[in-house]
Amino acid sequence: MEVYPWWTDEQKAFQEEMTAFVEEIMPRDAETRWKREFPWDIFKAIGEKGYTGAGVPKEYGGMGMGATGACIAAAAMNRTPGPGRIYVGNMLGGLRQIIEFGDEEQKKRFLPRISKGEIGAIVITEPVAGTDAAAQVTGARRDGDAYVLNGKKRFIVSAGVADRYMVYARTSDDAEDRRKYRHLTAFIVEKGTPGFSVEKINEIIGFENIQNGVLDFKDVRVPVSNMLGEEGQGWSVMTAGLNFERTLISAQTAGWMEELLRNTVPYCQRRVQFGKPTISFLNNQFKVADLVSRLKIARLLSFYTAYLWDLGWDITLECNMAKVYNAESVMASSLDAIQVMGGDGLTPFYPLSAIMHVAKVENIAGGTMDACRMVIHRTAMRQMAQEFKQPRRVIHEELGVPVPTAENPQRAGRVDEDSLLKILAEDYRVNPGLHMNREDMSLHFDVPDEKLDEVLLSLEQKGWALLNRDKKGIALAKATYDGLERAFPKDHYKWFPDWATEDRIF
Ligand SMILES: Cc1cc2nc3c(=O)[nH]c(=O)nc-3n(C[C@H](O)[C@H](O)[C@H](O)COP(=O)(O)OP(=O)(O)OC[C@H]3O[C@@H](n4cnc5c(N)ncnc54)[C@H](O)[C@@H]3O)c2cc1C
Repeated sequence: MEVYPWWTDEQKAFQEEMTAFVEEIMPRDAETRWKREFPWDIFKAIGEKGYTGAGVPKEYGGMGMGATGACIAAAAMNRTPGPGRIYVGNMLGGLRQIIEFGDEEQKKRFLPRISKGEIGAIVITEPVAGTDAAAQVTGARRDGDAYVLNGKKRFIVSAGVADRYMVYARTSDDAEDRRKYRHLTAFIVEKGTPGFSVEKINEIIGFENIQNGVLDFKDVRVPVSNMLGEEGQGWSVMTAGLNFERTLISAQTAGWMEELLRNTVPYCQRRVQFGKPTISFLNNQFKVADLVSRLKIARLLSFYTAYLWDLGWDITLECNMAKVYNAESVMASSLDAIQVMGGDGLTPFYPLSAIMHVAKVENIAGGTMDACRMVIHRTAMRQMAQEFKQPRRVIHEELGVPVPTAENPQRAGRVDEDSLLKILAEDYRVNPGLHMNREDMSLHFDVPDEKLDEVLLSLEQKGWALLNRDKKGIALAKATYDGLERAFPKDHYKWFPDWATEDRIF
């Protein structure tokens, strides 16, 4: 089994132990899948071993192996994709919220229960709120020492079999709170609370021996002591939880990729067509090569992200990247593996089609690929702003073409129409299709924003500049054709390569 140089001896030994444990439970997992039973005994065994405590600190009854330990367990457990999903997303997925936002009493109450294998559920999605999770309408109203919850949630993994439900509900309808994401609050709702029931169990691909359903909340009184974080902090609690869940999901997909290879390679070493094992065909070798590459990259992404978690870094970018890359890769690998195994790959007598099903599930559950990409984009724009600075280019004096420059222009202490128009016109020579943004213009002018706005508006009124506005005001500017003509004589813009002889130019 692959280990990483930064793992502790304890983590390396844990991977071996988990691998052996999963070998033992696989027969029972297969049986419960065919019989469509919930594998209670598997979860009992996991609890007895304390494996759900992999990421729980030791002082709360866990193994204290951090995100790395949780990911080791997640990858190993997913040779059994059903129990693996519950183990990862729901038992461990509810963990981070309590570690980050729970008070001491809540940590002492809930974390040991997670370590002992108590099944939990993450409860965000509603009939009207999917990707737009902030649009939740399930409400929580304060009444004395409790909140009263009313509403419905859907697509909830472990609905009915979980004891602990991490529920997000709306505590404010104020427009400003909504705009600032202060309208949600997180609660732990426990099984058996009056008014809390399962409305429906869904049929979902890949969920043969586990379950997913709709939850109903009718005047459910949840004690204030079960609120995680402050009222209005639900969005932050949810985001912390999703980041951890996405890290774990990315590790579980690595487990599936291992399982695909474990089946595909031995199969095509033994399958003979045209007098040769099918592994000898180059097309099958290339698919196996892709399966290996995706697995190695997926593991690296997952365990690097887990390592950063354990160092206390912000992993928003990495965990979303890992989820997108890994979920799409395992989907592609499951299709390739099935292709390599031909018809046998499509039967449920091998695990490939089951992995294809759960791979598709992970392209949607825990945040769709689009939702994760939205987070990657937003986070990268903020964190990598320095790397996205436009390389500065100027027109080369002799060649007359745009070339990079290491020098910044001298900044003028004042700005007027002529000087600004000349800058916009010069930018047309360098970047004819682009507008200049405020940062580009401020490289030339050391003046207050209001002064620059005043001159830009005046240029716009005269028809010499095109302005593009965002919600903060003028964002981008460009010289119009009239503006170009006003800034410089026509010849200033002309440029022809040497081979363009006069007979070709008018
Ligand atoms: C098997 C399974 C298990 C799940 N488990 C849980 C669970 O345990 N707990 C829980 O709370 N939820 C759970 N979910 C819900 C899951 O998180 C949502 O299904 C998911 O967030 C997408 O929401 P949706 O299905 O309503 O799709 P929609 O939000 O309706 O999206 C449909 C499509 O439109 C795209 N889209 C939506 N908005 C945008 C946008 N702004 N820009 C671009 N594209 C967009 C989406 O990416 C998607 O491809 C589960 C779902 C499934 C299928």
